[in-house]
Amino acid sequence: MATITDIPMDLKGMTLEELEAFARGMGEPDYRGRQIARWVYQTGAVSFAEMTDLPAGLRTRLAEAAQLTALSALTAVRADAGDTAKYLVRLDDGATVETVFMRYEDGRRSVCISTQVGCGMGCTFCATGLAGLTRNLTTAEIIDQVLLVQREQGSRVTNVVFMGMGEPLANYAPTLRALRILNAPYGLGIGMRHLTVSTVGLVPQIRMLAQERLQLTLAVSLHAPDDELRSALVPINRRWPISELLAASAEYIRQTGRRVSVEYVLLEGVNDRADQGGRLGRLLAEHARLVGETPAAAWHVNLIPWNPVYGMQYRRPARDRVEAFLRELDRHGVPATVRLERGVEIDAACGQLRRTHGLPQAAVRGVGEVSEAEARRS
Ligand code: SF4
Repeated sequence: MATITDIPMDLKGMTLEELEAFARGMGEPDYRGRQIARWVYQTGAVSFAEMTDLPAGLRTRLAEAAQLTALSALTAVRADAGDTAKYLVRLDDGATVETVFMRYEDGRRSVCISTQVGCGMGCTFCATGLAGLTRNLTTAEIIDQVLLVQREQGSRVTNVVFMGMGEPLANYAPTLRALRILNAPYGLGIGMRHLTVSTVGLVPQIRMLAQERLQLTLAVSLHAPDDELRSALVPINRRWPISELLAASAEYIRQTGRRVSVEYVLLEGVNDRADQGGRLGRLLAEHARLVGETPAAAWHVNLIPWNPVYGMQYRRPARDRVEAFLRELDRHGVPATVRLERGVEIDAACGQLRRTHGLPQAAVRGVGEVSEAEARRS
């Protein structure tokens, strides 16, 4: 029977120091570790056989002693004339996650990656949350989503957003390690300011991340300006209410000097009224003052009009309601933008592609089911 020590070590997900130590452990000089890092993270090798500047004997020994996670795309659905592509990615154990590529006119090539199979946070408007959490991704599985997109697209990724399936801060250590490797010169070399981590509000982990003083963008999913409504939409709010979440976010601003993004999905008749926009603006302005900042220096609100999801009761607000909400934020000096919609026709909201590929329908029922036709009309 295989024991834990029989399982080959995954070199993808190791830092440079760990790869050097691994090389030493095999009786090789440190620079072999640097060569492996270059092949794995910069060249995107998916096998040891490709590492042609390593001696053949070493490549054979590496193949025996170690492994390299190399994920594959089960399906790829494209939209926006190919500028958006959504991949259903198969993991080694057969589980699947979603990874979305977006190319922008200004030259950015961004990837939205998953950090968990499913999610345990249970937000009521989220397709991923409906099926619950299966497991955390490893560092290798997080990083390889970026490398997979580079393999598929044939070009380098400039920005990574941890905003796919799962709550990144509930998988804290692998997420932090992935961030460091994505940023490192020996890794993918993506600037820390081009990395965004989204959280639904795990307050202790936000405070831990603040202590790291990384220059990444923290995106906090708020979705409501009061606790009663937020607890109904985002159950974790019962554990850490808005005041604690914004205090931790303010601490993040204080420690890093970075603006925090506030994500707000607009659901018609639920959280999109102008007075709710005013309340949100007031709340953010007050918390900015607490850390001696102007609202514009502390926050940026991303308003995301709801993307209809088959089986959910929510509706997308009309444009005039979105504009009225924006005006209220503006009145309080809080900058906000309406998130550019990408890939609406390929269900690019989190969890939706996986849902239409292989999840039994019974597993996704339960939140105000409506028919597919109704969802598409709304
Ligand atoms: S919105 Fe994010 S945190 Fe909430 S259930 Fe969905 S994936 Fe999880």
